[in-house]
Amino acid sequence: MKRTISLIGLLIAFCCFSIQNVLYSQDKFVVNDKIETMAYKFDMKDVRLLDGEFKKAMDQNYKYLIDMDVNRLLHNFRINAGLKSSAKPLGGWEEPQVELRGHFTGHFLTACALMYSSTGDKNFIAKVDSLVNGLEECQVALNRNGYLSAYPEELIDRVETGVRVWAPYYTLHKIFAGLIDVYVHMNNKKALDVCERMAMWVKLRTDKLSQEQIQKMLRVEFGGMNEMFYNLYSLTGKEDYKELAKRFEDKFVFDPLSRKEDKLRGLHANTQIPKVIGATRAYELTGDEYYGTIAKYFWNEVTKARSYVTGGTSNFEYWRSEPNHFFDQLSSDDHENCCTYNMLKLTSHLFSLEPKAEYSDYYERALLNGIMGTQHPETGGAFMYSVSMLPGTWRIFCEPEYSYVCCSGTGIESFGKFGDNIYFHNANSLFVNLFISSKVEWKEKNITLTQKTNFPDEQKTLLTISTKQPQEFVLNLRVPYWASKKYSVTINGKSLNVTADPTGYASIKRVWKNNDKVEIQFPFELHLERMPDYPNRTAIIFGPVVLAGKLGQKQMNSVMINGMGEDVERLSKESAAIPAPKFVTDETVLSNWIKPVKGKSLTFTTINAGVPNDVTLIPFYRLQKERYSVYFDVFSKKEWKDFLDQKVKIPEGAIDCFVFGDKFSNDEHNYQAWIANKGETAGRKWVKSKSWFRFDINVAPDKPVMLRTTYYGDESEAEYYLSIDGIHIPTKKIEKHSDEFFTVDYDLPFEMTKGKERIGIQFKVPEKKKDVSVGQTTVEKTVSKYETPKLFECETRVK
Ligand SMILES: [Zn+2]
Repeated sequence: MKRTISLIGLLIAFCCFSIQNVLYSQDKFVVNDKIETMAYKFDMKDVRLLDGEFKKAMDQNYKYLIDMDVNRLLHNFRINAGLKSSAKPLGGWEEPQVELRGHFTGHFLTACALMYSSTGDKNFIAKVDSLVNGLEECQVALNRNGYLSAYPEELIDRVETGVRVWAPYYTLHKIFAGLIDVYVHMNNKKALDVCERMAMWVKLRTDKLSQEQIQKMLRVEFGGMNEMFYNLYSLTGKEDYKELAKRFEDKFVFDPLSRKEDKLRGLHANTQIPKVIGATRAYELTGDEYYGTIAKYFWNEVTKARSYVTGGTSNFEYWRSEPNHFFDQLSSDDHENCCTYNMLKLTSHLFSLEPKAEYSDYYERALLNGIMGTQHPETGGAFMYSVSMLPGTWRIFCEPEYSYVCCSGTGIESFGKFGDNIYFHNANSLFVNLFISSKVEWKEKNITLTQKTNFPDEQKTLLTISTKQPQEFVLNLRVPYWASKKYSVTINGKSLNVTADPTGYASIKRVWKNNDKVEIQFPFELHLERMPDYPNRTAIIFGPVVLAGKLGQKQMNSVMINGMGEDVERLSKESAAIPAPKFVTDETVLSNWIKPVKGKSLTFTTINAGVPNDVTLIPFYRLQKERYSVYFDVFSKKEWKDFLDQKVKIPEGAIDCFVFGDKFSNDEHNYQAWIANKGETAGRKWVKSKSWFRFDINVAPDKPVMLRTTYYGDESEAEYYLSIDGIHIPTKKIEKHSDEFFTVDYDLPFEMTKGKERIGIQFKVPEKKKDVSVGQTTVEKTVSKYETPKLFECETRVK
């Protein structure tokens, strides 16, 4: 792309657009970026979605936002400020005693600002005005130097002094960001005043702390406080805010990244991504390469060595492995949606600085396969928290009224800003990054570009240019990484010889006339993406679309099928996943064993490869209300024979056998553990835990079954709970044994295994709740003095 921008073009770009693109309305910014922006976002008000899947998903979110009662969002703020409120409090993480209360109100402000820009619907102005007025009343009533929150300032005392508290600055960041967004998008000046008063309160609080105290405080999740202060600085020009942004720089995380070292293992993923967005903002505003290196290195590392095929990252919210290790990282809790939301935001910044298709390819991958499909198909406000990558699981959504979790907050934002990254521009170029039916007005040029496509159901898009007089500019078309060699472009029906430049864009420079039509054809091809640490495990992709296997509704009740409701989360974590078939084939040409299903768009079936059966594949983001698999094990016939030879043999008479510590036995049985210890006794591996471990195991649907468990002598009299698919079953203490291996048989109640071919077994430490005094408050803590016994192996047998 760089090659198509002339020096004059750059100068014009610099003069015309005073400032950073990422917050869209450049007229609000007073501080110029030091790093030149190479491609600007369009103000979302200039982009409109046309009919299609994205518009439909946005409309569902629109309805949810517009129906929300502002008084409910203000309830906790009013109570905290000593004002009256008779509104019904929100539930879940917004319940009146929860330490994160208030965060959703911040997300709601941002979502309304984005939705207002996306639709132009003036109803959002009245809604946001009353919300901002209500927040200001609370700030005045609190009368604490600008403090504004739904919880008392005592939570800030706790985070400053290292006393256990959830994440008070994380919550405040959402409120700050929401106020900034409604100022930027909706011109609500009061929001900026309220925000600035809050900012000065942060200054007062942190002025009193040493560098060391601040760094200690930053061990607790604080969202994008640094990014927010940089934005406030660029909106006001006040140096204080730049200083405050620097205060919220987490050296512990930044320094290794600045040296291009991946020390991310063990870190909470979504705590770090917003910090790095802040680093990117610091780079843009200061030009300091320290921040630039952090941003670019981190992006590369996370998208290329720590992301699933969907573009999502994290496992139980953490990075729990070294880079490029995925084999044992498939769980019910992969891929937290907030991470995808924030990685997209980071990608957007980096694209602006260096427009290359690598960034837009990731953006498309994560938006289409990671974000789409995470809103409940019928219920607005119901979003997925994490997206399971474990074969044989199903989608679960947070019920709006009882959740208000972090991902509900980023969910209402994600589904309000699809127009955000479709197009970019600079002085003389227009970038077409995403294939989404939409219309963009390029005001500086008085040009409108309309994009019509049924992508991904059709493998082409049509761009129509509308201009009063012929004008010369460069149209930069992304040539996606997945586009086949048959990628082609026609202008007004005549084919044009185009190739991608090193940035991955095909640039067409010409004098464009009214009604010029550009058709891009990008035929899809099937390809596999193999897991780097276990290449037999692959995802199947058609063009940009990650395909998933339809695995049916086996062992799913209506609550599980709907994916929402009481108990659904426990069921998803504790009940058995039904394994996906494996594929065994010597075919090297994918289209010889993965064939399209006639008459059904983006639908395929495997032919003579599935063991025990072939599978229908459809786009993962459209796969709802049944079990699925995104990853499949694919073997040649020889590899399959070797695999079976190496596999743990099921003892005679047993239905199934789980041997802890065997890589493939762990994998096949979906073994997962929390706070676990591993070791070896007499050459046999064991696991024990201070919390829980679990695995799935086959049973007989029509006969009562028992579980035979192998322990070692020193585990006598140990105490623990056993549950089947999340339901506790009675167990007895293990009798005393000398130093030897011994087995204990447990009768599994028939009513809990009947009709099932597989169950989830969990070994859990009995929890003891205890009131513990922390500072001046008393909190309830879970204390366990026990560990589960060392488990070596388990097998199921007919009784
Ligand atoms: Zn989240």
